[in-house]
Amino acid sequence: LMQLSIPLNFIGFIYREIRQAMTDIEQMFDLLDVKEEVTDRDGASALAVSDGKVTFDDVHFSYDANRPILKGISFEVPAGKTVAIVGPSGAGKSTISRLLFRFYDVQQGSIRIDGQDIRDVTQESLRAAIGMVPQDTVLFNDTIAYNVRYGRPSASEDEVAQAADLAQIGTFIAALPDGYRTMVGERGLKLSGGEKQRVAIARTILKAPPVLMLDEATSALDTQTEQEIQAALDLVSRGRTTLVIAHRLSTVISADEIIVLQDGRIAERGRHAELLVAKGLYASMWDRQREATEAEEKLRRARETD
Ligand code: ADP
Ligand code: MG
Repeated sequence: LMQLSIPLNFIGFIYREIRQAMTDIEQMFDLLDVKEEVTDRDGASALAVSDGKVTFDDVHFSYDANRPILKGISFEVPAGKTVAIVGPSGAGKSTISRLLFRFYDVQQGSIRIDGQDIRDVTQESLRAAIGMVPQDTVLFNDTIAYNVRYGRPSASEDEVAQAADLAQIGTFIAALPDGYRTMVGERGLKLSGGEKQRVAIARTILKAPPVLMLDEATSALDTQTEQEIQAALDLVSRGRTTLVIAHRLSTVISADEIIVLQDGRIAERGRHAELLVAKGLYASMWDRQREATEAEEKLRRARETD
């Protein structure tokens, strides 16, 4: 009965979400909570992006009233710069990305792009301006060409191949027996996490959005894959305003600012070298990560000599 009462426009809403940047199934389910909260306001105009500056201004947010998640977050991503968000699991990092995409509305404060409150613009124009590269990309059960072209349906075959090359996935595709016509997804060829992420990057290269939102994979990738993905991300984020939820040292080292989030507040902020000198939460996080990486290396070398 509950299911029957789901209004048609809700289905339309879900459909549009999928059609847009919606490639993360987890986030898709998150949407189920927010169908009625987030709507275009009457007379909402299209977002006018001039240079793509992103501002979080004293943002407060909770999923349910008695448990605040973000408790007054302020930062700015200047046009073309990269800000990395790091912090322990559950700190609220992914929530920040959901708010920027306006899956939910803030309860206090505001989020602005080039000075426009994202609640005042159409969701369509907002989401067209933001490229999302999620942690886990879900592919459509269709050809790999379709999956890449999804970033810009009007793209030519050459443009699709170019984007795939830039995303470091072109060689892999070309080596498949059916090339770009290979069926992928649940009922086709299964791609690894790293390959799927590069497909998402290729899509984003085609979409060429002024603002980028990346959620790096937490799981360890092999060094080769990590370097390929890093190269692809460097390319796509060059000259674009980029907000990245960072797990890789290589990403944060080069960030223009690092925001260390803990328990819904900004605990520390600065550049990599400054934060190391400060010997706070950030420094201890990277010490731990370095130790873990070294332990893994040791284990690998021990296995190799067996
Ligand atoms: P992070 O990405 O830093 O690991 P998240 O932003 O995903 O953290 O989550 C922050 C907090 O919000 C966590 O305690 C999480 O359990 C909670 N949370 C996330 N999504 C929801 C949701 N849809 N409903 C209720 N609580 C949620
Ligand atoms: Mg997260």
